[in-house]
Amino acid sequence: MEDLTLADQQLELIPLGGLGEFGMNMMAMRCGDDIIVIDAGILFPGQDLHGVDVIVPDLSWLLDHADNVRALILTHGHEDHVGAVPYFLSQLNVPVYATEFTEALVRRRLDEQTLDEKPEIRRMSYREKISLGCFTIDPIHVTHSTLNCAALAIDTPLGVVIHTADFKIDQTPVGDELFDLHAFAEYGKKGVLLLLSDSTNVDRPGFTPSERAVRPAFEDIFARAKRGLFFSCFSSAIPRVQQLIDLSVEYNRKVAFVGRSLSSANELAHKQGLLRIPDGILVRPQDLHKLEPHRRTAIVSGSQGEPLSSMARASVGKHKHAVIEEGDKVVLSARVIPGNDKAVYRMVDHLCQRGAEVFYGQQTPPLHVSGHGAQEEMKLMLNLVRPRFFVPVHGEYRQLSSHARLAAPLRDQGLEESFVLQSGETLIIDEYGARRGEDVEVGRVFIDAGTGDEIIDDMVIRDRRNLSEFGVIVPIVTIDRRTGKMVNEPEIISRGFVVSEGGEEMIDTAREIVAATIQSSSKEEAADVGMMEEKIRTDLRRFLSRRTSRSSRPLITPVVLEV
Ligand SMILES: [Zn+2]
Ligand SMILES: [Zn+2]
Repeated sequence: MEDLTLADQQLELIPLGGLGEFGMNMMAMRCGDDIIVIDAGILFPGQDLHGVDVIVPDLSWLLDHADNVRALILTHGHEDHVGAVPYFLSQLNVPVYATEFTEALVRRRLDEQTLDEKPEIRRMSYREKISLGCFTIDPIHVTHSTLNCAALAIDTPLGVVIHTADFKIDQTPVGDELFDLHAFAEYGKKGVLLLLSDSTNVDRPGFTPSERAVRPAFEDIFARAKRGLFFSCFSSAIPRVQQLIDLSVEYNRKVAFVGRSLSSANELAHKQGLLRIPDGILVRPQDLHKLEPHRRTAIVSGSQGEPLSSMARASVGKHKHAVIEEGDKVVLSARVIPGNDKAVYRMVDHLCQRGAEVFYGQQTPPLHVSGHGAQEEMKLMLNLVRPRFFVPVHGEYRQLSSHARLAAPLRDQGLEESFVLQSGETLIIDEYGARRGEDVEVGRVFIDAGTGDEIIDDMVIRDRRNLSEFGVIVPIVTIDRRTGKMVNEPEIISRGFVVSEGGEEMIDTAREIVAATIQSSSKEEAADVGMMEEKIRTDLRRFLSRRTSRSSRPLITPVVLEV
């Protein structure tokens, strides 16, 4: 190694998102003149953030050091890790490294955007080292709820840092390679300076069951079903979809993917040989009705009850192709992300009202298994890697601190210290050890990405500056829950939204549009606040984008009151 300046002999960890908050994962590391960034995810908006689709990390710190940023490295294709890549690349043009499937998912997202410069995406392969300034990255295969996931062993002048990314240790994965325990053990044997490990399931004792654990419950549902089967899971849950396809083949059913993100993710996986679909099994959603009911399997997006998702629309009888009838079975095979409970239960209510038998929530045998390791897997990771320092990542504060507590007994076994950091709190490691550094500026940027699952809109970057520049429009309407009718005329409040000419008239038209949206909705839809707010927002957004310039769109946050 060439002679190092003092600054080179210091390693800095800069968490820019995902520590102390759910989602929005982004971690920067700096050594000398080099900065690498791991993941660029979105935060999952809670119910209280009406009208905001996407929240991404504030990139101020990276922009201040833009000349030193060498690369963005993606661990896997989940939205909380790659959802902010288009935004990231609109601000910083650096090479992006990803495994094959992750790359395909990201390219699909980027195709929907217009970026000034062509993104440079480079293929990352397991155990093939990538050299980035003073960092050398060694991608290691881990199992999780999607495919092609990578943990990173990062060699630095100070020692090896291991970032586990999202993982569980699945000893019998579906359609995936085995978890590369050996690679972690090898590094552990040689000595690891710092471990960053997934804290999501720190509250769960034991081991997370293998992906295969959902098979018995599914098999039982297939065996008993006399009519249509509708499953909902996350769009990139390829191993889950694989099991549904295998069972459909066994039970002589054909399969349709319903929902844009779900079908494109699974088509990409199929193209790459990661998802096996025998010929003649797949049908187009529009051909589902041509099959006899007992030959239909539909895999439908919208397990979180997202308003306007395919499943939410099917639940109120408003989906053209996914038509759920009396005696059909509907299975929600996903965990409910905190904050989405209300929307999911409303959707289940609607489905039950249609006469469907709905399977959801926790039951034994399970309808869903987590993609994150439980306590014993976390301990196993700590024991394999045997780090000198430990920073729990991926979780809210209580999860990070529980994870640090879980590691405490290893204090006598070589672990010097654990650090519970939140986004913006840095860690410095040098020859004297590890200590907290100065805080950096972090934050959230709100992006209004359009309109749900099916309709693609331009992504409009809407940071706080834009918000004060272009303003907010708040349509308020009161709906009678029993009749589905408006109680009075919609009101439109606007703040900071300026239109040079015809402003009054524009607000009047907006009011009419809101009224028309409600009048054209069914009673079932009108009784669903979340769905109505989303519909109003979509219709108003469409109107405003015709009437205003693309770069000056206000934030639209509808409020629907029920009486
Ligand atoms: Zn994940
Ligand atoms: Zn994650």
